[in-house]
Amino acid sequence: MDICPKCGLPKETCICGELEKSQQKIKISVAERKYRKKVTIIDGITQDTKKVAKQLKEELACGGTVKDKRIELQGEHVKKVIEKLQKLGFNKETIER
Ligand SMILES: [Zn+2]
Repeated sequence: MDICPKCGLPKETCICGELEKSQQKIKISVAERKYRKKVTIIDGITQDTKKVAKQLKEELACGGTVKDKRIELQGEHVKKVIEKLQKLGFNKETIER
């Protein structure tokens, strides 16, 4: 059985991951790339960044990339990204835009 190093509980019952998720400071912004293409940038997701990016891309049916801990989605999706992140367990209060 895997034990969480933070709280000492078995991994199945530990909620450290969920807690961390709800406390993460996330920043969403929109930037303009060449040819006036807009991208939505999501900073601050430090856990499962690639997995989250994949889910966002599927949900929004758009392309995107992950660089370090930054997710870039093609197009302007701020509202939808916030909704989707909430569904994934992130806390709206910690999402800055
Ligand atoms: Zn734990």
